[in-house]
Order: sequence, then C-alpha cells, then structure tokens
Amino acid sequence: ALSQVLRLERSRRTAIVFPLQKLERYLAPGTDTARFRLFQPGLAALQRAEALFRSDRGHPIDCVSSAVRMDHAPPLALPEVRRALPPRPSAGTGLSCGAKGWWSVDVPFLRLPLQVCFIGRSNVGKSSLIRALFSLAPEVEVRVSKTPGHTKKINFFKVGKYFTLVDMPGYGYRAPQDFVEMVEAYLQERRNLKRTFLLVDGVVGLQKTDHIAIEMLEEFGIPYVMVLTKIDRASRGVLLKNVLEIQEFVKESTQGCFPQLFLVSSVESSGVHLLRCFVAHVTGNL
Ligand code: GDP
Repeated sequence: ALSQVLRLERSRRTAIVFPLQKLERYLAPGTDTARFRLFQPGLAALQRAEALFRSDRGHPIDCVSSAVRMDHAPPLALPEVRRALPPRPSAGTGLSCGAKGWWSVDVPFLRLPLQVCFIGRSNVGKSSLIRALFSLAPEVEVRVSKTPGHTKKINFFKVGKYFTLVDMPGYGYRAPQDFVEMVEAYLQERRNLKRTFLLVDGVVGLQKTDHIAIEMLEEFGIPYVMVLTKIDRASRGVLLKNVLEIQEFVKESTQGCFPQLFLVSSVESSGVHLLRCFVAHVTGNL
C-alpha cells in the first residue's frame, strides 16, 4: 500500500513509485527525458487511484470470466443502457439500432461502462501484474489460463461503477492467428475501450509478436500504452537499452501509443501505484 511506500527513504520510494525516473540519472547528460515525466501524478492522485483498487462493501470489485468469443462475453451494464434509452428513437437523436439488435449509442449522456484492456504475449507477466494491481482487493481471484487455443478466457474485472479492466488471453507463437481469434474481435467491438495496455517483457524488449500486436493496434486506431514488465529481472544496462530503443520506436513509428513507457515489477511492486493511477486517469476517475 502507498502508506507503506511513503515510509521508505526517498530514493527507494522513487524507485517504487516512479521506476522510469529512477533510471534518469544513468543517462548521458543532455538526453531528452521529457517523455519520462509526461504523467507524473501527485500524492493525492496516487491515493485516489489506490482507493479505486481497494474493494469494500460499497465498492465491490468483481471478476467474471468469459469464453474468448465476443458473442459469449458478458453484456456489462447493458440493462442500464437499455433502461436509459427512450423506447423509440426518433430521427436526429443520435441513436441507431446496431446490427446486433440493441442500440448502439454515440451520445454522451449514456454512461457506458468504460474499459481498459491488458494484452501481451503468454508469459509476459500479465497475470502477475493484474494480481499486483488488485492486491488490495484480496477476494479478487486472478485466474490464470495457460491452455493454448480455444479454452482461453477473457477475465473482466468490474471495479465498482467506475470502469472494467479486461484481461485478454496471452497470445503466443500462433500470432497472428491468435489475434484474429481472440483479440481482434474484442478490440474492434468495444467503443467504450479507453486504453489498451500492451505488456512487453522488460528483459527481452520488443519481439516479433509484439510488433504484430502494435501493427494491429495502429491499424485499428486504438490508443495504447506500453508497459515493460519484470524490470527487477533486467540489469540496469539492459533495461536502459530497452527503454531507450522502445521510446525511439514509439516516437518514430507509432501514432496511437502514449509516449511515456510504464515500467513495472510485480515482484517488487514497483510501477504498480503509477499504473493504477494512469488507469484511473484514462477512465476519468482522478
Ligand atoms: P502471463 O502468462 O503473462 O500471465 O505471465 P505470468 O504472470 O504467469 O508470469 C510468467 C512468469 O514470469 C512467472 O514465472 C512469474 O512468476 C514471472 N513473473 C511475472 N512477473 C514478474 C516480475 O515482475 N518479476 C519477476 N522476476 N518475475 C515475474
């Protein structure tokens, strides 16, 4: 919890809350570090985010699993949307009947449940990270589904009435088939998806499969952010090299990626507070 982190001495605290900033001092003088600090919340924002991820009776955090096929996915809060809609839309209301038989809505007064989704290669550390994000809600069970192919599940973590965190199945050597079967349909379907978190192994950096994921996100015009996992496992030199290379790649070759990387270690809990805060930020909850 943040209160424990605040008791640590300053340099250790920075390493846990802002791991990317911790690396700055090892860069050559004159290196542009503006992208290290684009999202730099204060204590109040970090505390607010932590409160969102802490469950209690008035603020339950529920997990529902679903088959990977989107027509099996739970229609989160759909009944509310139905209730809020007038019985018959008239011309010019901004409402239209979607192909799936329910109303597709582009009007702001209808508050669809906002979503963020987490994607990444199998073994990148996604389950561990989601477990770390929800460590203050011990009743939340982060299910791990390692079986390849169609038995994989999507996990939906409904964080009170605020947002839903969607845990997509990890993809592997079968990419791009894995994407077509599991991830693409979801990403194309969701208008209320606020941000996709693409997890990349901090030890090995961007791999071929990660590039396929990036191409897909770019092609669909989906805003995303890259999260480097397992940073405790990478030596400082390797981590710096990966951070700088990926940052350069993001700058030169992407349109939809947030320019700041997020670094996390689920083992040491570093970067987890900042990531919670960014999720709270992109879902409009700060
Ligand atoms: P997933 O397949 O993406 O859900 O990956 P997991 O969360 O199951 O992690 C895969 C392996 O990496 C497991 O052996 C984890 O213990 C390990 N792991 C995950 N996150 C970290 C981390 O932050 N640091 C270290 N050292 N190991 C990690």
